[in-house]
Amino acid sequence: MITPIMPTYAPSDLVFERGDGAYLFAPDGTRYLDFGAGIAVMTLGHSHPHVIKAVTDQAAKLCHTSNLYHIPNQQRAAERLTEATFADTVFFGNSGAEALECAIKTARRYHWANGDKNRYRVITFHGAFHGRTLATLAAGGQAKHLEGFAPAVDGFDHVPYGDIDAVNHAITEKTAAILLEPIQGEGGIIEPPKDFLACIRDLCDAHGLLMLLDEVQTGMGRTGDLFAYQQSGVEPDVLSTAKALGGGFPVGACLATEEAAKGMVAGTHGSTFGGNPLAMAAVNAVLDIVLQKTFLPQVRERAATLRTGLETLIASYPNVFTDLRGRGLMVGLGCKPANTDVVTDIIAANMLVVPAGNNVIRLLPPLTITNDDIEDALNRLDKACRTLSN
Ligand SMILES: *Cc1c(COP(=O)(O)O)cnc(C)c1O
Repeated sequence: MITPIMPTYAPSDLVFERGDGAYLFAPDGTRYLDFGAGIAVMTLGHSHPHVIKAVTDQAAKLCHTSNLYHIPNQQRAAERLTEATFADTVFFGNSGAEALECAIKTARRYHWANGDKNRYRVITFHGAFHGRTLATLAAGGQAKHLEGFAPAVDGFDHVPYGDIDAVNHAITEKTAAILLEPIQGEGGIIEPPKDFLACIRDLCDAHGLLMLLDEVQTGMGRTGDLFAYQQSGVEPDVLSTAKALGGGFPVGACLATEEAAKGMVAGTHGSTFGGNPLAMAAVNAVLDIVLQKTFLPQVRERAATLRTGLETLIASYPNVFTDLRGRGLMVGLGCKPANTDVVTDIIAANMLVVPAGNNVIRLLPPLTITNDDIEDALNRLDKACRTLSN
């Protein structure tokens, strides 16, 4: 008999009742160190007092009005995001996939507005993950995700990640844009060659294409800058973000330059919930913290401490871990045993991490972790490694 929850997930038996900072508590009081942060969502940790206050105060005043009316705290969030980035304008939705849908629509509409009605195709990359809607599945192009959902949405051409020659060869007169993650997250914390984003920018400029970045996972400080593109020396035309944006509140955003968004006029896109007062209270609360001058430098400092500890761990357990990858607090560890077994033994040490493609485990802790949390993490990982190497 089918379960009341549609069985599209295969959750473990773990249940949590409350969270505090980098820790989650099971109903029996057992404490787990959360280095998954709900898949890079809980940027500020669990139960951050500033986010709680902002969301509860707003809920008590006004949750939702719809975009039929002006929403002042949506205006404020958009101003702060454009101020802090390349972008001139922001569309708010409710998830990562929706943020990508908006990016893809923006790219098609840009060329349409330019009178180029046949330029609609987007070059994307093997191993990419952009979400589970029909268009974002087609963008990701992974057979295992698309099986049984044919026909795939048309308009995506896939090339190997990091291969600039392949990108160049894939460009035709129908190409509208290139869409990529600055670091592939679900794919296994895979970094492209150092100058890849700059080369993509050059190709986009040479061919009149829009550069679309998927920063759903890398965004909001995860890599040590507000957005990962800020480490590349170039700027995209459109950027999608979500996961960490609301500190646990479901919200996504599509950021764009004025030029890229020139086709997105009234009536072209929308969302009932998108950018509602409650969601925007969460976004502004997260921005209050993440935009503080001391915040990102501290993320980088913690990331360096964690990395040093992990390097020692890997050197001690070469039969468990093969390598360390990623940037900032978006860390991947290549595994020798099956990553699912590694996750199981880490859970046995009361710590949570997230598996990823290519037999990797991901460490995506809250960006607010303390040095004590890092020490605790290294001890728990060490304990799991001892079990795994027996
Ligand atoms: C999680 C993720 C998405 C999809 O976000 P949802 O909120 O699950 O729709 C898209 N792109 C990347 C890079 C992601 O990590």
